[in-house]
Amino acid sequence: MATTKFISERNLRFLLYEVFDLESLTDYPYYQEYNRKMFDMVLDAAVKLSKDLMWPILEEMDAKQRSQGRNLSQKDPALAAVAIIEHADVKRMLLFQRSVVEGALALLLQSAKYADLERVSTGGEKEKYALLLDILTPVVKSYPSEMGILSVSQGLQCLGGYGYCEDFPLEQYYRDARIHPIHEGTTGIQGMDLLGRKVIMQDGRAYGLYLEEIQHTIEKASGIDQLTSYTRKLEKACELLQSVTTHMKSLASSAGPEVFLADATVYLEFFSIIAVAWQWLKQMVSIQKGLEKKPSRSETQFYNGKFHAFRFFFSYELPKIHGLAPRLIDSDRVTVEMQPELFND
Ligand SMILES: Cc1cc2nc3c(=O)[nH]c(=O)nc-3n(C[C@H](O)[C@H](O)[C@H](O)COP(=O)(O)OP(=O)(O)OC[C@H]3O[C@@H](n4cnc5c(N)ncnc54)[C@H](O)[C@@H]3O)c2cc1C
Repeated sequence: MATTKFISERNLRFLLYEVFDLESLTDYPYYQEYNRKMFDMVLDAAVKLSKDLMWPILEEMDAKQRSQGRNLSQKDPALAAVAIIEHADVKRMLLFQRSVVEGALALLLQSAKYADLERVSTGGEKEKYALLLDILTPVVKSYPSEMGILSVSQGLQCLGGYGYCEDFPLEQYYRDARIHPIHEGTTGIQGMDLLGRKVIMQDGRAYGLYLEEIQHTIEKASGIDQLTSYTRKLEKACELLQSVTTHMKSLASSAGPEVFLADATVYLEFFSIIAVAWQWLKQMVSIQKGLEKKPSRSETQFYNGKFHAFRFFFSYELPKIHGLAPRLIDSDRVTVEMQPELFND
């Protein structure tokens, strides 16, 4: 399979065609002259660029190729070292990268689809997609930027000293990625945009539409037995989002704007994790549909790989909201009360 290695071609096709149904846009007059062949041509060009230019540089940095250590159950020091990708901790780092990058990419495509639908529709429908795009904009500007840094950092860590060397481009990517949470307007400003404007705009209309979109995915997933426990987790996360948001909004009138927005960045992180969990559940609905068609061995393997990345996100990333929520409802105002001169010594 042709691969970009940042994300496989199969994965891109899955997101564009199976999850976001790109072809459905051609039903609108604006996109009538487009078709699957044209979308494929653009995709092919991007894959070719990535394969010809990037992959030769990256090929050596593959956790499947580097050997170090033995499995913990193997005590014999004479045994050959195993590939580092065999170690659970290395798999944890790889799954982290995969789950945040593929989740973030899905969220970006979701916003791109709202932008397309806003362009082609009229009246109330147009307004709805504009509001959905509005509320997701600070999230799609910040989550991929912030998590991109952590993802490249884990890529470096995965390869040890070898990853840190200038011989390979990861250390340069790490510095390059650092600009993203700054140059699109900082993450702090995106947090204030989300909480101080988007969540409360038009009496919470965009926020309400966004919750309906998540609910729509939950309903679709509810009929799938394999997804029951994950669907329940997302439902619980939405309930927490509701109670935390209600509390934060009440601070605007009870404690004033300084306190209301003091933790806007923390709220943005909390909100974003739930948004990405939604995108993973949405992908899982398409994966279950794909698996029902009794796919080939390689296709089954692709879907199983996605399923593990999804499981990882729900087991390792989504629970972080239960650490952020208590802070968001805490009445300790340490950041507001800290005086600049107290940083002196
Ligand atoms: C490499 C690079 C490329 C760029 N390219 C572009 C470009 O193409 N187009 C463009 O328009 N701009 C560009 N920029 C500028 C970029 O938009 C700004 O750097 C960014 O908006 C942050 O502004 P600032 O650097 O003035 O930081 P500041 O505004 O001084 O922010 C410093 C810190 O204070 C925080 N802060 C600031 N105000 C508040 C507040 N009211 N409340 C709470 N916290 C606050 C910020 O979050 C940040 O952490 C680029 C910057 C760089 C470094």
